[in-house]
This record gives sequence, structure tokens and C-alpha cells, in this order.
Amino acid sequence: MERPRREKLVSFVLLPAVVLAVGVLAYFTLRTTLQLEKLRQQSVLEATLGLASEKADRLDRRIVEQDNVVHAITDPSSLEALAERWLPTAQRETPTVRGILVLDERRTVLAFASRAGGAWTDEESFRRLLVHRILDGVDLDKLPPDELRHLHRVYAGQSYLVSYWQRPHRGRRYLVVAWHDVGRIVRDVLSSLYTETAAPSSRVNVVDEEGRIIFGPPLRSGEFTVGVRFPTTLYNWRLQVAPSAGEELASRVENRRLLEMVMVVLSSLVIVAGVVVVLVAAEKERRMSAQKSDFVANVSHELKTPLALVRMFGELLQSGRVASEAKRQEYLDIILQESERLSNLIENVLDFAKVERGRASYDFRPGDVGETVTRAVNVYRHRAEREGVELQCEVAEGLPEARIDERALQLAIINLVDNALKYAPGTGAIRVRAAVEGPVIAVRVADRGPGIPVEEQQRIFERFVRGNELRGLDGRPVRGSGIGLSLVKHIAESHGGAAWVESDVGRGSTFVITVPVLRGAAGAPARGSRRPAPTA
Ligand code: ADP
Repeated sequence: MERPRREKLVSFVLLPAVVLAVGVLAYFTLRTTLQLEKLRQQSVLEATLGLASEKADRLDRRIVEQDNVVHAITDPSSLEALAERWLPTAQRETPTVRGILVLDERRTVLAFASRAGGAWTDEESFRRLLVHRILDGVDLDKLPPDELRHLHRVYAGQSYLVSYWQRPHRGRRYLVVAWHDVGRIVRDVLSSLYTETAAPSSRVNVVDEEGRIIFGPPLRSGEFTVGVRFPTTLYNWRLQVAPSAGEELASRVENRRLLEMVMVVLSSLVIVAGVVVVLVAAEKERRMSAQKSDFVANVSHELKTPLALVRMFGELLQSGRVASEAKRQEYLDIILQESERLSNLIENVLDFAKVERGRASYDFRPGDVGETVTRAVNVYRHRAEREGVELQCEVAEGLPEARIDERALQLAIINLVDNALKYAPGTGAIRVRAAVEGPVIAVRVADRGPGIPVEEQQRIFERFVRGNELRGLDGRPVRGSGIGLSLVKHIAESHGGAAWVESDVGRGSTFVITVPVLRGAAGAPARGSRRPAPTA
């Protein structure tokens, strides 16, 4: 009762619990990994964003600095001297300002100073554009005095940037406008601000309102590329920044994510495999101990039968009620043979125990296989007769010597003959033959019994393994301990030979043991002659 409950506990509670725990562990590990990755990614993004804003501010500052210069030199009280005051330092102090205009409240241009190089028509058309379009919507009333504003507009496919502020003077309000040369900003300012020469940590470009690149290289819109607008000046355009290791970073992140996922899956598999191995080992152990206790029960039973016979005939003899001398002799023979069988059984168990403990040792000497076979068969002579089975023993003439442990080899053959009598009762004859087959001497024990199914032919040589559905003449299961054939195999292999069975179900089985012929003895003169089967 105890065992099944424990097994049920293992298979219905422990195993699902372990699998569940592994699943939960894997889930949380994976989740934490992904979260960490996200955090790492976010911090890279934030750093890049900070960098982009700082870079955008730099441009704004450059333009505002120039606007301040313009503010300083425009004096509404002497507008006619504006160009004189400005132009000599214009190139140095206001490099991107193309022109300065001063307008009154009614949008009349009072003064217009322009840098050399621009054609008059350009200026005239700009003036018209400024008055009628660009400043459209600019309300002087709503404009706090001296507050700098910017307008960034596109007209006829061209980008314009103007800075403007209201300048009060002697009760009148003037509008001062600094006309920035956008082309020049792109050519000179952007490139001087954003071109990093030595080991750039990031790549920068500027795109217009339609996403066309105005400055810089194309950037792949990867995970780490960020874009910010210029806060006050060129506010329709965007500055984009990509960490130059962005792509590498992205692929590294991807690789690490993959690796971590594979690790989590692999370790889960290892844990599950470990649990399965432990369970399989436990099951094997359980089966083994069950086999062992069966074995003890079976052996005790097997010992009982010959012991009972010895006792019975011993008591008969002791009672003195045996009629004839012949009968007395027969009983004595039976007692002798049964006790021999008994000691063979015990020897089997002892030898098996030695093999199990790895202590089996054999005493190999040149010996006569034929003689050993004959002796083994003789042990069963009486029993065969009693059971009406013809036990034939054929030893080929001139059988060469072999290096054998006679006791062990005899035990192996006894096991085979015993099995034949046990499993093939009432089937006529059992034939034991010994002959040279190439480099080996083969001993064959053939019966005409039930035979052994192919799928069992290998397994029956394993310890404790017994065939299925074997029944004796009386229909009762045949007793056995399942160690005989494993011992036979061990003995044959220790001799440098082999043991196997050739069998057809329903036609009988032939068990074969081979031992190598002693080197140099292959052509030896015949030592034993053909030994006829002993007769009663
Ligand atoms: P045991 O005879 O004690 O069961 P063995 O190791 O000697 O153990 O044999 C293992 C199994 O091989 C037997 O249980 C039986 O099923 C099968 N076997 C052995 N000899 C024969 C035979 N001559 N005919 C049919 N089956 C056999």
C-alpha cells in the first residue's frame, strides 16, 4: 500500500510541481531579462535624446547671438546710417544675416540694409514677400517690446528664416527684421556645428518638413535614432541623431536577447531532463528490488523440491520397508542425484552472487570439454529417465582441448539441461552435442519444447528475466529464479566464448555455448572417443 501511494505522489504531485516551478522560473527569468533589456535601451535612447536637444540648442544660440548683434546696431534715431554701422562687421559678427529691415507700424519699410552679393531684384522681391506674406499675421499690438521672435516659412519651394522684434522709440513702434540666409546656415553653420571629425560618437542629419535631408548623411531609422525640432529658429526642421554604434548596439541587443532566451530554454530542458532521469532511475531501482525479492522467493521454492525428495526417500530407507535391494539402490541413487541437483542449485546462487559482486574468479586449465559435458548430462540421467525423456549426449571424436574451468562449464551445461527438462517436459528427447565449429568448440543443448519468441531470445540472458506464460505439464507456472542463463552467459564469455539461443516457437530451442579451442591443440589427436548416451 505504502509504495503505490508514494509513486502516485511522485507522478501526480512532485513531477507536475517541478515542471510548473521550472515554467514559472523560466517565465520570470525571461521577463526580467526583457525588462532589463528595455531599460538599457531606454537609457541609450535618453542619452541620445539629450545629445540631440543640446545640438539643436547650439544652432538656436548661434542665430540668437547674431540677432542680438542686430538689435544692438539698429538705432531707430539714425536709420540712414544702419548700413554703415553694420556692413563693416557683418561678415564677422552676423555671418548668416543677409539683410536688416526696419518697418513702421503700417509695414512701410523705413530702412533696408543688405549684404553685398544679392541682386537688387532679389531684395525687392524679398521686401514684398516680407510685407505681404511673411509678416502676415504678425500683430505689433500683441508683440511685447524687444521680445525676439522667429518665423520659419517656405514660399515657392524656398525656405525663409526671419528674426523680428518690436522696438519702441520716442513714442513710436518700429519692427526690426533680421533676414537670415538659410542656404548659408546650412552650408556654414550646420556643418561647423555638426561635423565631428575625430571618432564621432554619433551621426547627425537635418531633415525638412517633408523629411528631405537638408544636411548630413542618411540615417537608418533604427531603434536608437531620435529626432528633435529646433526649438525656436528653424522650427519646421528636425535634427536627427543616431549613436554611431546604434546598429551594432541593436544587433548586440538582439543577439543577447536570443542567447538569453536559448539559455533559459536550455536550462529548463536540463532541469526537466534531470527530473526524468531521476524518475527513470527510481523506477529502475524499484523494479530491481521487486525482482530481487521475487528471486529470493523463487530460489527458496526451487530448493524445497529436491530437499523434499531427499527427505522422503531417506525416510523410506530408514523405515526399512523397502522390499528389494534393487529398489533400495534406486532410492539411494535418487537421494544422491537430488542432493547433487541441490548443490548445483546452491552453487548457481553462490556463483551468481559472486558475479554480482564482481568477485567471480575462474580456474582455467587445459581440459576436456567432452568429459565435462558427459559429467553434466549424467547428473540428470536419472531425472530424465523418471520423466520419460530421452537424454542423448554426443561428443564428437577427436575433440581438442580447451582452456576451461571444468566446474564452471559443467554448471553452465547443467543449467541448460535443467532448463530443457523444465521447459520441455514430455517432448521426447533432449540432445546434447559437443563438436568443433571452426575455432571454437560448441556445446548445443536442443529440446523440442515450446520454443522462445524472438523478442525474448536476447532478454532471457539478463539476470532475473524470465519468459512469459511458461507452464509445465500440470499447467502450473514453471518455477525458476531467472539467474541460470545470465550465469551461463557470464561463464561462456569469461571463457572467451559466447552463449545464445536458436529457437522457433513451437519447434523447440537449441542453446549454444562456445569456448575457443586451445591454441596449438586444434589438430591434436583425438583424446576422447564418441561417448554414447548413458543408458540406465
Ligand atoms: P529460470 O529458468 O530460473 O527462469 P533462466 O535464466 O535459466 O531462469 O531462464 C530464463 C528464461 O528463459 C526462462 O524463464 C524461460 O522463459 C526461458 N528458457 C530457458 N530455457 C528454455 C527452454 N529450454 N525452452 C523454453 N524457454 C526457456
